Amino acid sequence: AQDRVFNFAAGPATLPETVLRRAQSELYLYEESGMSVMEMSHRGKDFMFILEKAEEHLHTLLEIPLGFSVLFLQGGATTQFAAVPLNLCTPDDPVDYVVTGSWSDKAFKEAQKYCKPSVIWSGKSGKYTTIPDVRSLEQNPKAKYLHICANETIHGVEYKDYPSPENRDGVLVADMSSNFCSKPVDVSRFGVIYAGAQKNVGPSGVTIVIVRDDLIGHAQGITPVMLDYKIHVENGSLYNTPPCYGIYMCGLVFEELLEQGGLKEVEKKNKKKAEILYNAIDGSKGFYKCPVEKDVRSLMNVPFTLEKSELEGEFIKEAEKENMVQLKGHRSVGGMRASIYNAMPLAGIQKLVAFMEDFQARHD
Ligand code: PMP
Repeated sequence: AQDRVFNFAAGPATLPETVLRRAQSELYLYEESGMSVMEMSHRGKDFMFILEKAEEHLHTLLEIPLGFSVLFLQGGATTQFAAVPLNLCTPDDPVDYVVTGSWSDKAFKEAQKYCKPSVIWSGKSGKYTTIPDVRSLEQNPKAKYLHICANETIHGVEYKDYPSPENRDGVLVADMSSNFCSKPVDVSRFGVIYAGAQKNVGPSGVTIVIVRDDLIGHAQGITPVMLDYKIHVENGSLYNTPPCYGIYMCGLVFEELLEQGGLKEVEKKNKKKAEILYNAIDGSKGFYKCPVEKDVRSLMNVPFTLEKSELEGEFIKEAEKENMVQLKGHRSVGGMRASIYNAMPLAGIQKLVAFMEDFQARHD
């Protein structure tokens, strides 16, 4: 059989090998249930236990304080682009968006259908290579929330500390799809955190939403039942059939992250991996370049280009031959991108850096 490759995809992305092995061992027969998790009733005791455990592990990992609810939903982070304004605003309410890349731009555009969003800063003219000092921006005190994308998956910019919302109810909303559970987060500073699972914590099909309880129960009348946080909170994520197998997988990943020592340990590893890769890029005397400003470079998604851009196709092809796949940059920006989420082992980074040095030696 062919060996597993180092998968640098942006999502769905590489998963911890121990988790895959465990899922494999339990796939056919889950504990005493006599069946696979895929075959279980979502209201039976075995699945209820799986769901409770997943939630409990996430609470422990993120040290989620009292007064917040955790939801396991469907529809991807994209659905949350609409669910957030539908749950938090009336159609006339102003809200503020900081646009640091394609994902926050999409979130802003979707919100235009359901409330009155303003872009208080956009990095578009600078090709989304930086993050502003939000303190220096003018926020609307009447805004219902301030929305940010914690980590822009395509452009590789990541907030290193989170801004303070200056709106009446102090509501900060963050799309954490691509850095969820990659480092500790002070959940108490947020109104809503949402994330698709398929980068750091599981397969696609599960969307995690963490919402402050006072923000629940104010959805617009037109809100589809599937987008109403109150309905999902009241039903413990079981209003309808949830993505059962995906939730089971997320639970296994949460357990694995706890076994590693929790998010402080995970962050240390992520910092070390990113540092090795950025140092290789910066130390290449311009052969490789990362366009992102140093102090906001993502620990998760590392975009880079070749000075001799005509060699990029060859770089990607050769890397693939050496079992390092999915290094092509997003179609909207080109170049390369290495996504190095929690589950990317240090060995994958070391192999990539050795390959980059070798490629440079042959083409410089
Ligand atoms: N936000 C961010 C930051 C993302 O990276 C993505 C997916 N790449 C999305 C939103 C959209 O997520 P989904 O495909 O789960 O709807």
